[in-house]
Amino acid sequence: MIASVHLAAGSATALFVTSYSPLLVSNKSKVALALVAGIASHVILDTFPHQEYMERWPWLLVIAETIAILMFVLSAQYSITRNSVLFIGMAGAAIPDLFHISRGHLFRSLDVLHFFHGSLPSAFWMSMFWQSVITCLAIIYIKIKSA
Ligand SMILES: [Zn+2]
Ligand SMILES: [Zn+2]
Repeated sequence: MIASVHLAAGSATALFVTSYSPLLVSNKSKVALALVAGIASHVILDTFPHQEYMERWPWLLVIAETIAILMFVLSAQYSITRNSVLFIGMAGAAIPDLFHISRGHLFRSLDVLHFFHGSLPSAFWMSMFWQSVITCLAIIYIKIKSA
């Protein structure tokens, strides 16, 4: 999937999980949980059969998407904890693909996070359109939840 959907969904999942976890008290554990939630959101989203980038190495696109999502998701008006949860959720969601692109290198063995890749027996195919819709919904959720 494209970077936007993973990054936005990672933040939204981190926000969702941390705000509905009654067991968590400290901000530190919230941030730790945000990382796990971010990684989990990537693995789960990737189980849907989906469209990928057309380009082989879409670096510029990925960088532009990352900057855009950061600007949409983070806000100077949020608390440090909220921004940390959102940012770490995003970072967690980026991790599986970082391992993925380093195939053949040091982290090759860590690409196991993609073992569910496209494996969900589902008729629903996530096109670029649906990935964009999910990206928007994730950002809207974060904005409503933080209002
Ligand atoms: Zn994929
Ligand atoms: Zn992936």
